[in-house]
Amino acid sequence: MIEIVFIYDKYIMLQQWLHSHAKKENEQWIKLYLEMPYFNEHRIKKIKKYIKNNNIEKLRKITGNNDITIKEMETILEETNKILDSFIFKINEKYTINNTQKRLEDEWNKNKEFVNNFFKEVIHEELTIKQTCHIVNPNFVRGGRSIHKDIPNSAIVGFVEEWENYNTVYLVHEMLHSILGLAMVNHAIMQLIADNELRIRLNKYGKYFEEVGYKCLKCNIGHGLLRPFEKIIYPYFIKFIKNKDVNIKDFIETMENNKEVKKLKEVYNKMDAQSFNTISVIMNRNLELTVEEALQKAGQQTNSI
Ligand SMILES: [Zn+2]
Repeated sequence: MIEIVFIYDKYIMLQQWLHSHAKKENEQWIKLYLEMPYFNEHRIKKIKKYIKNNNIEKLRKITGNNDITIKEMETILEETNKILDSFIFKINEKYTINNTQKRLEDEWNKNKEFVNNFFKEVIHEELTIKQTCHIVNPNFVRGGRSIHKDIPNSAIVGFVEEWENYNTVYLVHEMLHSILGLAMVNHAIMQLIADNELRIRLNKYGKYFEEVGYKCLKCNIGHGLLRPFEKIIYPYFIKFIKNKDVNIKDFIETMENNKEVKKLKEVYNKMDAQSFNTISVIMNRNLELTVEEALQKAGQQTNSI
């Protein structure tokens, strides 16, 4: 069963706020802090203990910084404490717990049974995971980020809802990162599962890759950069849903070895992210286009795919 635990952790909120708003070049302590993994309250306690015991080795290990000094870490804690104690942060804290957290929990409780059944039907297996979602206020900070790498089975969430059941879809999307990681093909398949198939089944209407939203008539769905991969994988995914004999791991492996996917990966590896994004933007504007046509439009070598 998929279990989601909702937590407000001020340190996660603050670190994400710095990621969203602070400029790395601003101050040395911000720069250092942003290069570190995400710290929740539990890990901050450990850091304080290492400072107290003058344990530089453990401090360097937990911060992932082999040069950091006790003095520098003390400065980071002092500066962050000033922000955590500020009036505006406290107000934000209240709003996050009373409003955002409540909204997400209510929607998840309403849909969790549906989601658990969805996985049995669509990927032919039951998922077992306990995922921790750290809540942030979406009016203040960007939510929607897996921090599984830093804190296992964890994500930062708090969304500006663009269409119906948006929260559920992205809670599931972030949860899938804990299971399937961040690799390109896995990510594209995750988007087909959560952002598209789950969204359409939950809402009982809708199309792949676009949605009629609260503020836009044709909202693009998910990370646009993945669209070329999604478009190639999509017809195979529809067949996979119907074929109960194939499991998700085997399906991912088959797609990794798919000729068209391999060629697209080569194109992706040769290009910088911005140029590849141009192809995604072209495809998002015209969802009927094939990857080859989009490449042609982008002025790329069509024979490379
Ligand atoms: Zn993602």
